Amino acid sequence: MADTLFSLEGKVAVVTGASRGIGQWIAIAIARAGADLCVTARSEVSLAETRAEIEKLGRRCVTGAQDVTDIKSIDETLERFKASFGAIDILVNNAGYEQVSPSLEVDEEIWDAIIGTNLKGAFFWSQAAARQMAKQPEGGSIVNLCSLTSYVGIPTAVPYGSSKSGLLGMTRALSAEWAPLGIRVNAVAPGYFRTAMTEGFYQDEGWASRMLDKIPQKRFGDAADIGGVVVFLAGKASAYVTGQCIPVDGGFLASI
Ligand code: NDP
Repeated sequence: MADTLFSLEGKVAVVTGASRGIGQWIAIAIARAGADLCVTARSEVSLAETRAEIEKLGRRCVTGAQDVTDIKSIDETLERFKASFGAIDILVNNAGYEQVSPSLEVDEEIWDAIIGTNLKGAFFWSQAAARQMAKQPEGGSIVNLCSLTSYVGIPTAVPYGSSKSGLLGMTRALSAEWAPLGIRVNAVAPGYFRTAMTEGFYQDEGWASRMLDKIPQKRFGDAADIGGVVVFLAGKASAYVTGQCIPVDGGFLASI
């Protein structure tokens, strides 16, 4: 029973921003669960390692160089993926960008880059995928990468927090609108994971030990912590779950 509930065999998943970090970990976890993958980042060459890992698992993988802020190229990329596999069952909106900055210094360029990547890009990828999923007998599942900033205000992360709070609102609203189309829309909110995006913080030992104090499990998230939750939300085990966001944060949000 468990193997059917948690298997993604025969499914096709798109993961945006899968060249490194959390997106790469998620893509590999989805491949382990049995799905074939379509992975994107802004350059083909950056996706070579992810593709190699997925193919080592015996799954097929198609790569696509696509900038999520280039809305016009989303349909074209999705069509190419569909031509390779015939269906799109799962979309993980993972591509993300952050640039911390005191709010008095945020300019339009920073605002647009963060909102354009994290919120606008995720919306138009969802729209493109949903148009395809709505035609499929089994619909589809969309998983968005929210954040602790979807729930709490973090100084100097205001454009980022606005994008991730917006993404949580978008997750809820799309789940209601697309439930009749057989499409579920959920999210995960990673806590503190050490990746290229966050590396700068971890260089500061004082910061790292203050953060660890606030995390009940007393450790940062790692590669093994996030993919399984996304696999759960992507597949049959969560068939009656939509519009939800699961924090994956070692207990941080529950304890503040
Ligand atoms: P990384 O910076 O390590 O990876 C970001 C990924 O997104 C890369 O694959 C990058 O690919 C891709 N990307 C960035 N901009 C674009 C773009 N415009 N178009 C297409 N792809 C893009 O970040 P993380 O792995 O840490 O973060 C992944 C997601 O998880 C993000 O949405 C982030 O906000 C979220 N998150 C992360 C947390 C953490 O602690 N790390 C905490 C909470 C949420 P490339 O540069 O090769 O194009």
